[in-house]
Amino acid sequence: MEKPTFKYPDKAAYDFVTTALTAKGITANEIAKITYNLQIKYVPSLTIEECELETQEVLHKREILNNAMVALELDRLATAGQLNEPLQTIIASDAGVFGVDEGLALNMANIYGTIGVTNYGYVDKVKEGIIEQLDTDKSGVVNTFIDDVVGAIAAAVAAKIAHKYA
Ligand code: MG
Repeated sequence: MEKPTFKYPDKAAYDFVTTALTAKGITANEIAKITYNLQIKYVPSLTIEECELETQEVLHKREILNNAMVALELDRLATAGQLNEPLQTIIASDAGVFGVDEGLALNMANIYGTIGVTNYGYVDKVKEGIIEQLDTDKSGVVNTFIDDVVGAIAAAVAAKIAHKYA
């Protein structure tokens, strides 16, 4: 049971996620660029700067941080070979039928409603920009979860912007 004195570590969770993303070259600006490309046809006045500000807001949401922490930690553990089998091999080989990476991503994409989910589906298909680079990285680093995390955050930000201008 939750201790009555437990204070949720929001700041530590934010630092965990942004540090793990930055280590793989993912900044709020990179995520903002994906969002911009998703929303510019619906919001012609949109700027990358506004997308970046909204990305920062979304990156402070607990639902985003909780799912992203689990996802990014699984990539880290798989890269280090520290998961028990068969999970180690499943995650290290990015098996398409695993689906937990997309499941966590959907939890994130959904925080501003179904627009985020449809945007995530689109981003996952076209694998835009930095997502394509993560998906095809052959350096031995496991990127099974991070591509979905980035796509889901970009999609959630796009949904937030869509609601703001509706
Ligand atoms: Mg994936």
